[in-house]
Amino acid sequence: MKISHASFTDFGSYGSNGFKVDKILPIRYCSPFMNILAVDTSCDESSVAIISVDEWKLKSDVVRSHIGKMTEYGGVVPEIASREHLKGLPSAISEALTQANLTLKEIDWFVVTSHPGLIGALLVGVGFTKALAFSENKQFSTVNHIEAHLFSPLLCTLEGKTPPPFPWVALVVSGGHTELFHVKGIHDFQWLGGTLDDAAGEAFDKVGKILDMPYPAGPIIDKLVREKATETDRTAYAFPRAKIAPTSFSFSGLKTAVNNQAMKNRPMTEAKKLSLLASCQEAILDPLVDKVRLAQKDFPGAAIVVTGGVACNSRLREKLPEAYFPKPSHCTDNAAMVALLGGLLYKEGKLIHASWDESASPSWNPDVTP
Ligand code: ADP
Ligand code: MG
Repeated sequence: MKISHASFTDFGSYGSNGFKVDKILPIRYCSPFMNILAVDTSCDESSVAIISVDEWKLKSDVVRSHIGKMTEYGGVVPEIASREHLKGLPSAISEALTQANLTLKEIDWFVVTSHPGLIGALLVGVGFTKALAFSENKQFSTVNHIEAHLFSPLLCTLEGKTPPPFPWVALVVSGGHTELFHVKGIHDFQWLGGTLDDAAGEAFDKVGKILDMPYPAGPIIDKLVREKATETDRTAYAFPRAKIAPTSFSFSGLKTAVNNQAMKNRPMTEAKKLSLLASCQEAILDPLVDKVRLAQKDFPGAAIVVTGGVACNSRLREKLPEAYFPKPSHCTDNAAMVALLGGLLYKEGKLIHASWDESASPSWNPDVTP
């Protein structure tokens, strides 16, 4: 029998992003048929997923990318992303419910990414999800997008597969982030360092732009280099590797170096472009590989985990054969990882109902995470 969510205990506690929460649920209080609907609108994908916590199954996984709209601008235009979320999110939610063969009434808990990300895009997701939860008189929680990426390797458990065992040294490497963590367990992690300027995915995309490639250039560079480059191409240009703290990253100098080489090498032949891209890819990936392995020395026995859009990169996977990577569709932004995090936190008794006043935030403070 379903237990109603009508009564709450007010502990006057604080939510995951430091906002005051007015309601918190006792552990394992809810329905034995717990369905969580999760939304992620942190950048340019309107994503919705549903997880059945009791069956430990992903019931739906919808990702509506706005990339087509952004290509003509050479990158993400925040205002356009917000408008695309407004247009696309309602039908993405309907599609997720249809895929799961569930009605809105059968959703017990609504979880949304509230930070970090593009503020306009996040506000659409938070506002929409909160309104759904409020109108259905159901639970509402917010989560950190980076934490969702961080635990996305555990999505394999929904398919009955064995996950990498804790502890992990984990790298979240995407279009907006390059962050290194030591992970001890669910919601139990420490930030070790991150990029001082551009993110690794951003470096791929900016280098692509210099060489007149469409946005996002990361997957195109990966494919081109994999299919056509030789070992000589990979070492053709000695692009800089920033000499900074072992847990910090920096890619803005690389972008300038590629730009300088591109200017010197005009007119650009396809062969020169291939060498530039292959050498540049090495210069982006080498620090990721080296620093993740260096961090592992501080945590002997820790598994290496790599997530985020750049974790799709085939050369990175080749360079780090010992690492665990989620499947590519779960490396780039998706709501399945948000639904999973909701499910994991729920099972741990750590999924708390957010205040109805809770809003979105573009930033995060890695020192106070989680
Ligand atoms: P964000 O959360 O910052 O929006 P995502 O996790 O969705 O980023 O990842 C998108 C980023 O990943 C883009 O910068 C894109 O170029 C990069 N990316 C995706 N696939 C690859 C690949 N195969 N090789 C390198 N970079 C990639
Ligand atoms: Mg992301």
